[in-house]
Amino acid sequence: MNIVLLGAPGAGKGTQALRMEERYKLRHISTGDIFRHHMRVQTDIGNLARSYIKKGQLVPDEVTFAIVSGALDEAGRENFLLDGFPRNLAQAEKLDEFARIDKVIDIDVDFSVLTDRICGRRSCMECGYTAHVSDLPDGTCPKCGSEMHQRIDDREETVRSRLDVYARQTAPLIDYYEKKGVLVRVSGMGSPDEVFAEIRKVLG
Ligand code: AMP
Repeated sequence: MNIVLLGAPGAGKGTQALRMEERYKLRHISTGDIFRHHMRVQTDIGNLARSYIKKGQLVPDEVTFAIVSGALDEAGRENFLLDGFPRNLAQAEKLDEFARIDKVIDIDVDFSVLTDRICGRRSCMECGYTAHVSDLPDGTCPKCGSEMHQRIDDREETVRSRLDVYARQTAPLIDYYEKKGVLVRVSGMGSPDEVFAEIRKVLG
């Protein structure tokens, strides 16, 4: 099964992707995670990506696609879960030439809750766990005890630009995949368990 997860920043794609990866034994490919890894170890790609990410803009398609095609090849172009890719029409068309997509799950969340979700999000640099700051009494990771950080692009000044990029460039993909007959929508307004239960209904 080859799956794409769609949804605005803060919709909960990463949280659901971790559960789906485990439950369905899929190769989780998160372009955001790959870019953050490159930024941490300061590769040329990481340094380039940082200049876009900190402004809330998309990293250029050629760079992003090179990363995705490499990861897809490693997965044998089967049984993958794409999280954060594609993010515009050009990427979706390129992906279609490269691999078969069986299902696209759109996690649908009211725009009004996104800013608080994103600005309040804290991420663990060690294990990748994320939580809202209001659920972290001492600022350490409940999973591994490391310090939780705010991503450079989760700050309020950047979030507006990310949501704008989503509305203009990524949201049209809902239509694109609906026309192909592979789109399913789930509500992302419930708890992570509730959202995952909806996804399981769709995927079995
Ligand atoms: P994410 O963790 O998916 O929210 O991604 C964080 C940031 O990485 C995005 O705001 C973009 O700057 C960059 N990024 C992630 N995926 C893509 C993509 N498919 N195309 C271009 N830029 C991306």
